[in-house]
Amino acid sequence: VREANRRTSQEAAVTSDGRAIEIAANIATLDDAKTAVDNGADAVGLLRTELLFIHRQAAPTIDEHRQSYQSIVDALGGRTAIIRTLDVGADKEVDYLTLPPEPNPALGLRGIRLAQVRPDLLDDQLRGLIAVQPHGAVRILLPMVTDAGELIALRKRIDEFARAAGRTDPIEVGVMIEVPSAALLADQLSQHADFLSIGTNDLTQYTLAMDRCQRDLAAQADGLHPAVLRLIDMTVKGAAKHGKWVGVCGALGGDPLAVPLLVGLGVTELSVDPVSVPGIKARVRRLDYQLCRQRAQDALALDSAQAVRAVSREIWPLD
Ligand code: PEP
Ligand code: MG
Repeated sequence: VREANRRTSQEAAVTSDGRAIEIAANIATLDDAKTAVDNGADAVGLLRTELLFIHRQAAPTIDEHRQSYQSIVDALGGRTAIIRTLDVGADKEVDYLTLPPEPNPALGLRGIRLAQVRPDLLDDQLRGLIAVQPHGAVRILLPMVTDAGELIALRKRIDEFARAAGRTDPIEVGVMIEVPSAALLADQLSQHADFLSIGTNDLTQYTLAMDRCQRDLAAQADGLHPAVLRLIDMTVKGAAKHGKWVGVCGALGGDPLAVPLLVGLGVTELSVDPVSVPGIKARVRRLDYQLCRQRAQDALALDSAQAVRAVSREIWPLD
């Protein structure tokens, strides 16, 4: 099976009834980018940029940002890259940040909130991102957005930096949907965002109030919980009102039992581990979108993640 999947991995993933799903890769390094291309990723759906900031004495310069993203874009051979701005907080060792420890780092100054105390870090990153060529290859993704005001303010900053750099073409800006408030406000966010990308790791953590790092809760902290599925449904519906597309970049997107349900809820991009791309593409090709739609609606009415998993396994057995 693996060998057959590899042979077709460079082709698009289209369901048996003609719905195209983009299968992208989650990456953090230039090596990951090469692995993504080798495995047939259609794009990069999430570039985590934290590595660029940690294990060093001072923050990266604008040019270091630009060079680092440029080398990745160059390796992608024309594929687009969604690059997420810095998402660290008091739980990560970043010497030059000198953040006071927080009792609940997951609820503290992480993601775009960090810019409240260190706006320079985000500003330099955005300036570096804006300089990458060709311009259309990069989309900016903002982590931990909780309302439209945050997005509007950041978009204004991005537009100012773009103007200062002489850019006149539009820059695509998306938001991570990884906090319940963002899913609930997907409609309002979609008025100002070009796309939404659901971070199911954090969305599950914050919806179920289960620490994603707590091993004893790993089995219960399941993104197929119907409450999380309802938030995903709400996200897609909110985005659809404004003609925007929705992807999933959390681990749920690479979970074979979740794939049919996410597709059925209307997600059109799944960003997964580079090595998972061939298998997820193969799974999408065996799906019937209309059946996925019906069964996803049914799943929203179930009462536990175990029930959702059982139903999914029955309809779409794992190979
Ligand atoms: C997520 O929260 O699902 C996500 C993709 O981001 P990270 O895992 O980096 O927090
Ligand atoms: Mg996250």
